[in-house]
Amino acid sequence: MNRELRKTVIAGNWKMNLTPSGARKLINELKPLIDGVTGCDIVVCVPFTDIEAAREACEGSAVKVGAQNVHFEAKGAFTGEISAEMLKECGAEYVVIGHSERRQYFGETDQVVNLRAKAALAAGITPIICVGELLKEREEGITEEIVSMQTKLCLAGLSCEDVKRVIIAYEPVWAIGTGKTATSDQADEVCGIIRNVIAKLYDGKTAEAVTIQYGGSMKPGNAAELLGKYNVDGGLIGGASLVAGDFAAIVKAAGQ
Ligand code: PEP
Repeated sequence: MNRELRKTVIAGNWKMNLTPSGARKLINELKPLIDGVTGCDIVVCVPFTDIEAAREACEGSAVKVGAQNVHFEAKGAFTGEISAEMLKECGAEYVVIGHSERRQYFGETDQVVNLRAKAALAAGITPIICVGELLKEREEGITEEIVSMQTKLCLAGLSCEDVKRVIIAYEPVWAIGTGKTATSDQADEVCGIIRNVIAKLYDGKTAEAVTIQYGGSMKPGNAAELLGKYNVDGGLIGGASLVAGDFAAIVKAAGQ
């Protein structure tokens, strides 16, 4: 564990679930369960329409609010899109970018992910950039190549200072929402590969400062082992983040 070198961040990805009233209810259930936990940052990444309700519900607690996507332009004729400034003013401090569901269903490329990350950083929002291989790619033995390339393309043009403000989530696509979890050694290995890529692109000190999460069916029963690995600095949690007790248990496994 590297709590002294970099931030541990546990972020829930609610995906397309819960209305504003449901968001308030879940956060109000969560708050007493995580009260007093230190040693990790806690974030809930909610649908756009829940951001304001979530921010209000989180007031006075350690829980921060994030969004699940951001458009890369500041404003203009982009019907249906949401800018970083809009997110910021509603209270989002984080945003998930390049989740595999967006890559799979909405055709997002690493180049678009890179633009979104730049827009988030410019607005003072922390991007959580998702990378990860498909099952076929793991079976073909090209996980390292795929994840390294994604990392390079997604970080293209970011300064050293920018990169220290980014969170990377290693999410093997075969483990998301499937109940299949990467072993803690697999998670540690690929998070380490990502860290090495950052060290080569920037320098070792910068690489040691970047938070790299694991995501993919993390739950109370496997969180402590995954989070105990040197290169795993937290988790991006889908299904389990919708159950207050489960999410709180993962937060406690990461915190003190
Ligand atoms: C996710 O949505 O990023 C995710 C990791 O989902 P789950 O925890 O349900 O696999």
